[in-house]
Amino acid sequence: MTLRILELDTSWGSLKLSGGSRAGEGTLILLPQLRLALDPGRAHRALPPMNQVCVSHGHHDHAGGLAYWASQRLLNSMGPAKVYAPGAIADNIRQLLLTAERLEGGRPYDATVEPVENGDSIVLRADMHLHFFSTDHWVPTLGSRIVWHRRHLRDEFTHLTSEEIAKLRRSGKEVTEEIEVVLLTYCADTGPALFTDKPWVLDSEILLVECSFYRDSDRQRAAEFGHMHIAEVTKVARQFEGRHLVLLHPSRRNRLREVEQQIDERIRPVCSATVDHMMVDWE
Ligand SMILES: [Zn+2]
Ligand SMILES: [Zn+2]
Repeated sequence: MTLRILELDTSWGSLKLSGGSRAGEGTLILLPQLRLALDPGRAHRALPPMNQVCVSHGHHDHAGGLAYWASQRLLNSMGPAKVYAPGAIADNIRQLLLTAERLEGGRPYDATVEPVENGDSIVLRADMHLHFFSTDHWVPTLGSRIVWHRRHLRDEFTHLTSEEIAKLRRSGKEVTEEIEVVLLTYCADTGPALFTDKPWVLDSEILLVECSFYRDSDRQRAAEFGHMHIAEVTKVARQFEGRHLVLLHPSRRNRLREVEQQIDERIRPVCSATVDHMMVDWE
């Protein structure tokens, strides 16, 4: 299965996303530059090289590739790795990996499971952090934001030459400061209440949002199960002022061609950002 690959420009540089998404069948989002998976929803050979994996919630279409990931990493001696999962399911995720380990003969997987909660953050690498927030789904679910800690020259020094700046530095003056830039926000499975409860999720250069349902008759279903209907995504698209909107998680009730047409007709005309998707038909 060929994954969809997006290369999206951000203030950090070009950020590469690969993966695919279909409700019920699998959502797999990989950021190879950070060796990070935001949901290992499907076994795929591109998944094991990721050494940090977030499981947004326990639904199989978001966690289904996890045992394959841990098994392949062990088989190929890929070193220690971490799984971040909502506290409410962290023990079950641990048990799932232990069961898979036992089925395979008992050599321990080199992966630790760390529980995370709404408001927690972890360090991906010195200048990149990951923040977690709860979404509006019907089981405990955490979305995540990739936050770049960017050092830049303080405003009061921007008019100086590089020699003058070097001189100030030598004299012990702090010439730079750190600012936080939200590069990407992954909303995982969620209903529209996320965007009224936490409007700041829109403050992101890249926004990954599910767009599960398309027919008028499916609006009730979307609301009941904490999912987004295209009418709700249209509202989000109107408000979003970032660079790239990426849509995920279409239900199997709609063909991909039909979904793409609706995105063209309803989302693109109202959105100032580029509109992409990572929707696939898993084979
Ligand atoms: Zn899902
Ligand atoms: Zn779900």
